[in-house]
Amino acid sequence: MLLATPRGYCAGVDRAVDAVEKALELYGEPVYVRKEIVHNKFVVETLTRRGAVFVEDTDEVPEGARVVFSAHGVSPAVQARAAARNLATIDATCPLVTKVHKEAVRFANTDYDILLIGHDGHEEVEGTHGEAPDHIQVVNGPHEVDQVQVRDPERVVWLSQTTLSVDETMETVKLLRERFPKLQDPPSDDICYATQNRQVSVKALSPDADVVIVVGSANSSNSVRLVEVALEAGAGAAHRVDTAAELDPAWVEGAATVGLTSGASVPEILVRDVITRLGELGFGDVEEVRTATEDIMFSLPKNLRADLKSAGEQTARPRRGGRRGVDVTAG
Ligand code: SF4
Repeated sequence: MLLATPRGYCAGVDRAVDAVEKALELYGEPVYVRKEIVHNKFVVETLTRRGAVFVEDTDEVPEGARVVFSAHGVSPAVQARAAARNLATIDATCPLVTKVHKEAVRFANTDYDILLIGHDGHEEVEGTHGEAPDHIQVVNGPHEVDQVQVRDPERVVWLSQTTLSVDETMETVKLLRERFPKLQDPPSDDICYATQNRQVSVKALSPDADVVIVVGSANSSNSVRLVEVALEAGAGAAHRVDTAAELDPAWVEGAATVGLTSGASVPEILVRDVITRLGELGFGDVEEVRTATEDIMFSLPKNLRADLKSAGEQTARPRRGGRRGVDVTAG
């Protein structure tokens, strides 16, 4: 078995899950969470058992109650609706998503047309789009490039969702630039370090793998991208599973080498279960394929940190290496 590293929890997911756990400890049940805090079934189910209440929108949260915004971010309209209902908010938006929001606002303020490469309907895209709806149009991929219309081809910039396939995004950008040669690049990469690192590691092992298994939920953009990237990089086949129970032994029958990775919202315990299952199926010889070392860590949302401090609680967070996914499995 070839085990991709880095895999699993990124710094933004780690922080968002930690924020809900700390909020539950500090304020008690219930803590409302708008949308899935991160796109992983197991994480959502575990936090639900601990007292988190997941809602689709803030109008389901009782007036004056506390609500956490998910790692994918929210639009200003959602923030305004929460404020109008006196909700106490904890914003667990990943700082790397916030960075894209700020880029969108900055370019909109200088009257650029913004081409946001991303998936329509994804929460992150809805949030970013909502920062400047009059200036942003969503481009779902290379197939939509022909339909793009801009007001001034001299003032066009592209931004992107953080969890896309790097290669497909670059293909979209190439086609957009053929149409709009003055197209500006984002000031820095919008596809985040974690998405990129997980794609690089699965790419490295895929040519040697008859089958690649990706642990991650169906609505997790970066997990679904890992399946596509594995196939493009030469894996014989690739399958996504939420848990070890979904692994069909027929997928690995006759395979000599199996690759394994997980999306950025997946706790390591789920990968461990798949390693055990693959061991039972004859793939007990595990070789790590490491392509990067990650040590990024984000501090908790500011107002939560302040409340923890006032209550005499710890606000410093342990380094990820020692706790990958441990917290959500403890309860
Ligand atoms: S995948 Fe990237 S942008 Fe999304 S939460 Fe993780 S670090 Fe942040």
